Amino acid sequence: MIPKKLLARMSGRDPSQLLTLAYITAFAIIALLTLASHALTTHITHKQRESAEVLQALGKQRGYVQQISYYSTHYYDQGQQIDYDLLVQALEGLKESHRFVKDMIDDMDSGPNMFVSPLKPTPLASASDPALQHDEHTVQKNVLYRIYYTAPFYLDSEIQAFISEVEKFLQYDKANTSKERQKSRDYISSRFTRYFVPSLDAALEGYQEETLEKITLYYHRQVFSVLGILFVLFIEAAFIFNPLVRHLRRFHKMLHTIAMTDPLTGLKNRRAFTADTQAALNEGHRNETPLVVALTDLDKFKNVNDTYGHDVGDKVLQHFSEILRTCCREGDIIGRIGGEEFALVLPKTGKNEGEKVLERIRQKIEKTPCTYTDENGKPCELTVTVSVGFVLAQPGKRAELDALLKKADDGLYTAKEQGRNRVIFVPNDA
Ligand code: GH3
Ligand code: MG
Ligand code: MG
Repeated sequence: MIPKKLLARMSGRDPSQLLTLAYITAFAIIALLTLASHALTTHITHKQRESAEVLQALGKQRGYVQQISYYSTHYYDQGQQIDYDLLVQALEGLKESHRFVKDMIDDMDSGPNMFVSPLKPTPLASASDPALQHDEHTVQKNVLYRIYYTAPFYLDSEIQAFISEVEKFLQYDKANTSKERQKSRDYISSRFTRYFVPSLDAALEGYQEETLEKITLYYHRQVFSVLGILFVLFIEAAFIFNPLVRHLRRFHKMLHTIAMTDPLTGLKNRRAFTADTQAALNEGHRNETPLVVALTDLDKFKNVNDTYGHDVGDKVLQHFSEILRTCCREGDIIGRIGGEEFALVLPKTGKNEGEKVLERIRQKIEKTPCTYTDENGKPCELTVTVSVGFVLAQPGKRAELDALLKKADDGLYTAKEQGRNRVIFVPNDA
């Protein structure tokens, strides 16, 4: 029978478990990608802030060296205290911004760098280069590191030498006109254009370019993670939720069928029969068409069970169900509403036509034996009869199903009383 098959198909499958698993997996992937995207955004913001600070510090260094060059010449020429003070101030500024940039270089990622900078160390980098001696992976260091610590600029040692020279210059008396002081002034004033402008510009440009490359790469990674999220959502919708929803729909349909079907005969059970009959009664009332409600009960069925066993009894019930199916039309409603009691509703059917259908059923069961094999495997036949009571729902009158079934049952009782195997009509006065 169909319900057993349905039950078998249902067993061992739990879509809610699969659904939960799919949800957890998809959410975990989306959460990871969202975290990655968030981390990348934070990183990009951090890089941009860091880059702005470094560029500002490099610009400041340029400005301080220029000021030092200017004030040292002025102070040498005119010996004014104001120039001396401004020189000291610019020197302090230079020291501070130099420290800041060095700290930033230390803090920067010194791990393998995926970017090929436009400023690679030149082959001129000497073996005495401290950076090369300390780290043979110098080529992977960031551009600022290279400009500060490697050839050709060695900016760090140059700035330190420049600071020492300025400090030495400041030690001289303002009236001192010695060769050493003059040389010191010349060195200070010439360093700006001859050395610091090209090296600091290279640092500015290289750093800017490298930072831009890094930020672009992080940006691309972020785009990838967002695309990843969209991809997972698409996969989830297409390959997880869509089949699961279809599966659940099938499952729901199965459960509905099981809830509405009698497992032994595959006919409608009482619940389904009542619902469908109510709808047919409403329609009949709306269209003012008559409708037949009949109750059938197998005669002396207890004897069948007692004589041949319960299994044969079941076979007889299935046999009778088949006869009901073959004798009824498409729109008729057949339900098993009790042990061996079957109810019939024949919409758009009057008394005479209804009686003919029911009589046909009675005669067919009487003439068609039920076949079965006994415990020895021998084919056997068994003939049963049926009693029927029926009533008519009058056109244009609203009728209650329970009242109609009660009247049909009265007819059934009469049929039993009159000797069984007959169809009895009960007039419906209500
Ligand atoms: P009557 O002619 O007056 O109707 O006599 P009866 O023996 O048929 O009496 P009744 O309707 O009271 O008996 C119904 C019997 O149907 C009793 C019960 O054992 C049997 N029955 C009910 N459900 C099933 C079922 O699912 N399978 C089988 N094999 N028997 C059933
Ligand atoms: Mg009965
Ligand atoms: Mg009976």
